[in-house]
Amino acid sequence: MRAEILSIGDELITGQRLDTNSAWLSARLLELGIRAAFHTTVGDDLDSNVDAFRLAMERADVVVATGGLGPTADDLTRDALAAACDTELDVDRESLDRITALFARRGRPMPERNRVQALVPRGARPIPNPNGTAPGIELSRDRAGRTPVWLFALPGVPAEMIEMWHASVAPRLQSEFPRPRVWKHHVVKCFGAGESELEARLPDLIRRGRRPEVGITVSQATISLRIQAEGTDEGECDALIAETRAAIDACLGTLVFGTGDDELQHAVACLLQERRYSLAVHESGTQGRIASWFAEAGAPSVWRGAIVEPDSPGEADPGRPDAESERVIERARRCRDAFGADIGLAVGPWPANRSSSDGARIVFAVAARDGAFSQTASVAGHPDLVRTRAAKQALNGLRLWLLRETTSTRG
Ligand code: ATP
Repeated sequence: MRAEILSIGDELITGQRLDTNSAWLSARLLELGIRAAFHTTVGDDLDSNVDAFRLAMERADVVVATGGLGPTADDLTRDALAAACDTELDVDRESLDRITALFARRGRPMPERNRVQALVPRGARPIPNPNGTAPGIELSRDRAGRTPVWLFALPGVPAEMIEMWHASVAPRLQSEFPRPRVWKHHVVKCFGAGESELEARLPDLIRRGRRPEVGITVSQATISLRIQAEGTDEGECDALIAETRAAIDACLGTLVFGTGDDELQHAVACLLQERRYSLAVHESGTQGRIASWFAEAGAPSVWRGAIVEPDSPGEADPGRPDAESERVIERARRCRDAFGADIGLAVGPWPANRSSSDGARIVFAVAARDGAFSQTASVAGHPDLVRTRAAKQALNGLRLWLLRETTSTRG
């Protein structure tokens, strides 16, 4: 069984408004065990709407449309639905009475145009809208040799749509489709390898049609592996997820740093907390990214503060890489001491005269109470992203050092 979500409105198709309804509806459908197979966006044009409704009612078993139910001439959802179902629009008396009463309560005369909001395609039912004039529309249509298709048209206003979903649509779907399958997902976060390298280390796990399915996405060098399990109940999903998660951990080891919404700073903060270490950072070339991540992560017990310097080109000494390394280690020590932290992390400066798309090498250093090391990270890519990548490489270097520390101390 699959669903299609149809978002209607010129403001969506022209990019003036972000279609948040589709994402919200997809997540709610999945909670009911119904997977959205298509998101379609269509402007305020009658023919396109009719085509979109016909196609959706053919290829999906549940269709949820939002938008185009208002009283104005560009609100075409009712007409399009009637045309797509080859039927007429009838006045729904109850809806008309409700709309008339709403205007009476607000002490305003009802504009003639609002009468159209009481129209529903023949055979369809209105969905009450407690907060607006536009009722929704619910209908089911028989299909030769197949199960009927269910269609729900809701207002575009997110707050109205959400309330009507909970009050009317979700209960209807629950009674029509009594939770045939349960879906659960689990996201594994990784850092330290490219997307294709990581995929190559996961033989067979990313294959389409695998059960459970594993999808891979990358955002600013952080890779997310999304395990999506389908089962008869939550227990079956959990077991499938646990098995796949164990396979991922075995293949990727320390490339895995967290789950769900975790970012590298959360993983580092956790390790610091476990070890009862505090951290101070000196940034030059990463424009304060590490400092702002820690400030947002809200880790007051481990976070001492940061020194953020503007780019200072010309400092790097290509003839003497050791000198550069020593300088960065020295900065790590100084900021550790300045903030009274247990560990100092220093990164940068950004290499002079280096275009980021050619790739750049940036040094970072970790200074603990009983030793220090530096490392060179290679970063390349779009200029908007390289600084973030450099900052993440430095944080990841600290994470790996903390992991080794933990292991050797425990060992
Ligand atoms: P109304 O009675 O308010 O006219 P409607 O069903 O006609 O309801 P629209 O006119 O299409 O809805 O949209 C109403 C508001 O909701 C607009 O501000 C619109 O930008 C917003 N909206 C519509 N569709 C979406 C969507 N898919 N995601 C987020 N906002 C949306």
